[in-house]
Amino acid sequence: MQRQTIISKSGRTKKTCRITELTNIFYFNYHDRQNIQKPDACFINVQTKFIFVTGGVMSGLGKGVTTSSIAKLLQLADQKVSCIKIDPYLNYDAGTMNPVAHGEVFVTEDGGECDMDIGNYERFLNQNIPKSHNITTAQVYSSVIEAERKGEYLGACVQIIPHVTDEIKNRIKKIAEDEKLDFLIVECGGTVGDIESLPFLEALRQIRVEEGPQGVIFVHVTLAPSLDVVGEQKTKPTQHSAQELRRIGIQPDFLAVRCSSPLEEKTKKKIAMFTNVTTKDVLSCHDAKSIFEVPQILYDQGIMDSIFTKFGKVGMVNTSANWDEWNKIAKNMVNHEDHKVKIAMVGKYVTLADSYVSVNHALKHAGAQLGKSIDIDWIDSESITDYDTLSNYDGILVPGGFGIRGSEGIIQTANFAREKNIPYLGICFGFQLAAIAFARNVLNLEDSNSTEIKPDSKNPVVDLLPEQQSVSDMGGSLRLGANNILIKENSKAEKIYNSKLISKRHRHRYEINAKYIPEFEKNGLIFSANSDDHKRMEILEIPNHKFYLGVQFHPEFNSRPGFPEESFVSFIKAASEEY
Ligand code: GLN
Repeated sequence: MQRQTIISKSGRTKKTCRITELTNIFYFNYHDRQNIQKPDACFINVQTKFIFVTGGVMSGLGKGVTTSSIAKLLQLADQKVSCIKIDPYLNYDAGTMNPVAHGEVFVTEDGGECDMDIGNYERFLNQNIPKSHNITTAQVYSSVIEAERKGEYLGACVQIIPHVTDEIKNRIKKIAEDEKLDFLIVECGGTVGDIESLPFLEALRQIRVEEGPQGVIFVHVTLAPSLDVVGEQKTKPTQHSAQELRRIGIQPDFLAVRCSSPLEEKTKKKIAMFTNVTTKDVLSCHDAKSIFEVPQILYDQGIMDSIFTKFGKVGMVNTSANWDEWNKIAKNMVNHEDHKVKIAMVGKYVTLADSYVSVNHALKHAGAQLGKSIDIDWIDSESITDYDTLSNYDGILVPGGFGIRGSEGIIQTANFAREKNIPYLGICFGFQLAAIAFARNVLNLEDSNSTEIKPDSKNPVVDLLPEQQSVSDMGGSLRLGANNILIKENSKAEKIYNSKLISKRHRHRYEINAKYIPEFEKNGLIFSANSDDHKRMEILEIPNHKFYLGVQFHPEFNSRPGFPEESFVSFIKAASEEY
């Protein structure tokens, strides 16, 4: 992606434009925003540099963390960076997938229901990633088929190469161009050898041909398992996987090799020898105490110098990372073993830790800020019978969920937390079912329920959003993304957020039925925040409880290491008796 950047002698004035605009160059003064003639300016040709991350051997090796860590290093060196996740599956987005099978659905500010790696990128970079950065097979094929129907390829036989690959390339290059990035890191989901990912890998290969070796580098993530007592690091899976990549025309520049203990020099040499990768670019990605240590692990092996050398940028940019703030954050995430806070997370999708990955992170971010380490026990709301065991916890959190299964267990849990004065944070489903628990047990409203769970309930305390009545598609049709929320004065919510106006991300189809609000409020449960001209209830609280908060939105998606989300901080404070 060739562009021209004009930088004044002071190095501060910067204007980037496409190479085709060069006949019309003007100098742009960054500070007073005026066009000025500045004949002493110097010219530097720059391109958005692409780093493509592929996966080998098997899934679950941490491609997302490798991608995020490389992006973080470049950001720490003052580069403008973003990431893309390619998901080669046929779903249009992650919204219709079961979180137990595929991990959490991460919701972006602009309402994308995305792969959870987008959450990793946001947390590492502390920057919002738009939904266009999660590309799937369905999105690509839909565009190609739509264009074909409109006659945009008239006369042509529409094929995977070039039409599908062009669509993939255009999406990637458009993001690089629109966002004027120095670096764009693209992670291709799946494992090399999968049929589904072939068109994507082919498109990435073509971008390398078009942009040249100084425009694109490939990082391949593999595994070196250590077997039995001898503990020898085995290289064959990595050799085969690099070979598979070469078979489709891609020679990796770096190998990021997952292993339990640091990769030995002789293992690196052996891998290098069989894969045509320089020994110093065979990187050990050994187990770390926290994922936030991975950037440092890669940096210490010289990845930054290698990247800038390969891109021919040495001497033109600052290659050393500014570690101060990040290291403080990374250290703070692991160092509080003496101060444990025990949290029960009662939910529906507890068999896979990744189902609630952002909630887990948000709890830990809050803990780190308060000097606490968080112990989370996942409790299946479908099988819980002995609610008294919940008294062993400092706090109870109920995350989001859908459908009837396990909902009664959540309602009982919310009621138990209220009765026993245990700090409670209910998110989305956990907010709605807390209201139902209150309606049943305090308001004595017989058969209170959500119409999602019992459509003919006598007291539908939670009901379908009015605009959802006519919706029939399941995909992408919930109330999604960031919305403004107004907080009432003198409420706990106002104290928590220290503001009367916040913006949070949503993902729901049901809401509190406004008809019941007066009765709730007469009996000690307050709806302390709302949205859309007071139509929609967003926060509930019980003022005479130690800490009882329900939120219709998803605060976990806004939490970042070093910048924890406020409701999590208050919840952990309350759970550690500091509220
Ligand atoms: N199932 C509920 C709804 O659709 C809650 C959704 C959620 O927890 N994300 O409104």
